[in-house]
Amino acid sequence: MQVDETLIRSVVEQVVTRLGGNGTIAPAPAGNQGRFGLFTCVNEAVAAAREAFDRLSERTLDDRRRIIEHIRRISIDQCVELGTMEMEETKIGRLQHKIEKLKTLGERSPGVEFLRSEVFSGDHGLAVIEHAPFGPIGTITPVTHSLPTITGNAVNMIAAGNTLVINPHPGGRRVAAEGVRRFNEAIYRDLGLDNLICLITEPTLETAEAIFKHPDIALLCVTGGPGVARAAMRQSKRAIVAGPGNPPVVVDETADPDRAARCIIQGAAYDNNLLCIAEKQVFVVESVFDAMMAAMDRAGSVRLNAREIDALTKVAITSVGQGQQKHDVASGDFVGKDAAVLAQAAGKGIPGNVDLLFGETDESNPFVPVEQMMPFLPFVRARDVDHAIEMAYRSEHGFRHTAIIHSNNVRNMTKMGKKMDTTLFVKNGASMAGLGVGGEGYISFSIATPTGEGPTTPLTFTRERRCTMVDDLRILGR
Ligand code: NAD
Repeated sequence: MQVDETLIRSVVEQVVTRLGGNGTIAPAPAGNQGRFGLFTCVNEAVAAAREAFDRLSERTLDDRRRIIEHIRRISIDQCVELGTMEMEETKIGRLQHKIEKLKTLGERSPGVEFLRSEVFSGDHGLAVIEHAPFGPIGTITPVTHSLPTITGNAVNMIAAGNTLVINPHPGGRRVAAEGVRRFNEAIYRDLGLDNLICLITEPTLETAEAIFKHPDIALLCVTGGPGVARAAMRQSKRAIVAGPGNPPVVVDETADPDRAARCIIQGAAYDNNLLCIAEKQVFVVESVFDAMMAAMDRAGSVRLNAREIDALTKVAITSVGQGQQKHDVASGDFVGKDAAVLAQAAGKGIPGNVDLLFGETDESNPFVPVEQMMPFLPFVRARDVDHAIEMAYRSEHGFRHTAIIHSNNVRNMTKMGKKMDTTLFVKNGASMAGLGVGGEGYISFSIATPTGEGPTTPLTFTRERRCTMVDDLRILGR
């Protein structure tokens, strides 16, 4: 998608002016109608979402379509302004991609058209299985895509007849609140329904916990890293958990190196590697290793030498925890930063148009096991494809999220697919092909991995109800 650079600059200026001050959000008016979904108190937010759910339950499927059209329209038409706000607030990723993500989620998140019913028809009549909503869904969203995740979740969940109570990441709460306010206001003006999407404007771990535990929250949907995934799975109610990834790439001796390089750069550089599906480490079969590195050069990525990689690793990877819990993590100072910022830390000057850095490391370099979310990719030599798949498997930590192979050998593809056992497995494409962008399928920014629902759709947020008619209404046969 092309967006006019002058328009972006003018929107940046307006947004910076508007977001000034101490960043707190104006208090909402009293009463639930006209609050447009913004709450500081979890109990009030859940009560409003419950009331909205009851009112939505009286509406038609066509009304749900109209509601979703407002969310789509705002995400698409206001993507430059809202994407710019997200960039200004979170300060991670790339403006062009913040804008694109909102537009894409607005256009392509599965809506009412994904609902369906099943029928069993036989000698004893009919059984119809329909998919019913749960009620208000407790929803946790990440800083890496604050408003885009809300857009996708809201389209999916409301299509299925639910409402939402969102605890956004504190680092992206302001754009989340602004988007939610706009969605609710447009829906209210058109359909007279408010608070379908409720959001905690000052989110904390305590407000998340209060949402998890609230008796009127029927279901949880959590998108984030290992900590929140563990917290959600400890709850006594059902949780749909879109957890962390660390997607490995294997390149074997049959791959087209130039195509592989283009795809790897497209996926790994997107929004400075913030996507959970993005290529994070590459294992290349020895016999084509040098050819693959040369293809990365040709495709415009910049190679760091061993000394530069050491310098970058020292500052970009840090450790947390004590004793046995101690482990490496990406440094917050470098997550989602531009390649130029990483290059500077590595002591290398690069042209401004470089999207991705890469370099040779061994398997033990922390950039391999850590979900770095930075535009630097470690490339590791493998003896053969089995060795490459083995290292890829270890680096993914059993998250079962995403894996990628570049190969023209179907046996190698099959072997890797079986071993990795990931939710998404992409062959000969960029990682986003697994979400239907440059490949087949549909998009979701909540890919439920440990709990197994996969990329979410409206049906993910439904409960089955069966309606049985005995001996009648089958109009076939005797
Ligand atoms: P994060 O884990 O730091 O935060 C995610 C959300 O969880 C935030 O709202 C945060 O406030 C909340 N949170 C964190 N710990 C919590 C706890 N103990 N209890 C309750 N809430 C808690 O992650 P992030 O940096 O915002 O996002 C990046 C991570 O999310 C990466 O690991 C990435 O792989 C993952 N992610 C996964 C998907 C997916 O679809 N599977 C999509 C996007 C991001």
